[in-house]
Amino acid sequence: MYIVQIASECAPVIKAGGLGDVVYGLSRELETRGHCVEIILPKYDCMRYDHIWGLHDAYLNLWVPWYGAAIHCSVYCGWVHGRVCFFIEPHSQDNFFNRGCYYGCDDDNMRFAFFSKAALEFLLRSNKRPDVIHCHDWQTGLIPPLLFEIYKYHGMEYQRVCYTIHNFKHQGIAGADALRATGLNQEAYYFQYDKLRDNFNPFALNLMKGGIVYANAITTVSPNHAWEARYTDVGCGLGHTLHLHQDRFSGVLNGIDYDFWNPEVDRYIPCKYTKETFEDKAKNKKALRERLLLRDVDKPIVAYIGRLDNQKGVHLVHHAIYYALDRGAQFVLLGSATEPGINAHFQHEKRFLNDNPDVHLELGFNEELSHLIYAGADMIVVPSNYEPCGLTQMIGLKYGTVPIARGVGGLVNTVFDRDYDENVPPEKRNGYVFYDTDYLAIESAMDRAIGLWHYYPDEFQKLALQGMEYDYSWNNPGEEYVKIYDWIRHHW
Ligand code: ADP
Repeated sequence: MYIVQIASECAPVIKAGGLGDVVYGLSRELETRGHCVEIILPKYDCMRYDHIWGLHDAYLNLWVPWYGAAIHCSVYCGWVHGRVCFFIEPHSQDNFFNRGCYYGCDDDNMRFAFFSKAALEFLLRSNKRPDVIHCHDWQTGLIPPLLFEIYKYHGMEYQRVCYTIHNFKHQGIAGADALRATGLNQEAYYFQYDKLRDNFNPFALNLMKGGIVYANAITTVSPNHAWEARYTDVGCGLGHTLHLHQDRFSGVLNGIDYDFWNPEVDRYIPCKYTKETFEDKAKNKKALRERLLLRDVDKPIVAYIGRLDNQKGVHLVHHAIYYALDRGAQFVLLGSATEPGINAHFQHEKRFLNDNPDVHLELGFNEELSHLIYAGADMIVVPSNYEPCGLTQMIGLKYGTVPIARGVGGLVNTVFDRDYDENVPPEKRNGYVFYDTDYLAIESAMDRAIGLWHYYPDEFQKLALQGMEYDYSWNNPGEEYVKIYDWIRHHW
């Protein structure tokens, strides 16, 4: 099969969050399975050019229709750790992708509406006719409408689209400009509720909704999140639309890259280990303590790794620090906050706890340190308010670091409570789960985990080893996506 991924990120060259990892990881898995995959991305000025090999011109004179005129673009091609990527560079005074950032501009809607249009125009003009176009998140939500309302009539009638939603919170709420600019000219037609009109703001378009309405298959990043999006408020107003299109909507759990996240081969950790040499994990714990100046005592290390924002349940992260200290554990936090208030709060905590030899707060983004923490910690807390899939618990499991997670989103599909999960046999359980967002809930889960570590160390080790047994690589998701691609190729 010939598959083209169109996205605003692809790790490691363009990465702001989990989306980048998925685009890269899935593409690699599909190639391993023998499919041909190409990735189309914007050519941002601030992307990591050092991760691109052999960047060269692929299509120098691409004219992309825009507001009845056209913008001149150049398309470059290069390899990102083996994946073929095309980068679109528009030459106009809008400077869409030369802003020193990926997202966060006032005209983000127009920047990515342009990117969506340009990606399809590139496919059309360069005679690329993929079997499946796989696009991601609100940034590429206009691709399904554009394909089926315009490009289908210009020689792309056999192309099928799979649309994956990684985060319902950002939907691309836009004005009619996005229609006029991209050539979707009949405003009244697209402004209907069964098309792109936002379900709650009658004067706005919703680009993500457009993707849902027009795509041949819609997925989100875990089965439980697919359910939540339809039946709870995490669908952020799109639940009804998803109901209407339920026969095309499903959840596919993300995978993680086991060449990178794997204690057997991890080049960032001082001592590699496997299930058979699990005792070597202790050497990483020692190294972690040395690195972060924690004292070497007989206590478990509880960790938190992740963004510090409301999605991640920061009030519970804060509470977990003090509760762990209180219960005879050490705590390590690695997190970055974009919101000034949350940042100030954790800066304050860091100063307050500075002299405590049982805790270290590292504020900022540090990939290398994150590997050492996954390898050195005994437990990892994931108290998210909502979590479409969540990678940290899956990485933790691979490193034999027991997750203590809130039962939401993808966490429900990946973490199974040692004491209470009745759907999973005891020998398959791998962590601790709590449900409420109050302090008592997380306390009870942490209590059970820390208690087991202190009083039944053999049982705790058994639990960690059971977690390492799980396969959360791209193998299963890759297979599921191939099934979805096959389905849309043969049923539409
Ligand atoms: P989200 O995509 O919502 O941020 P995920 O759990 O899906 O959350 O993915 C988070 C990824 O980012 C994980 O690989 C985690 O290790 C990494 N990460 C998050 N914060 C940091 C940080 N401060 N330093 C290093 N890595 C981080």
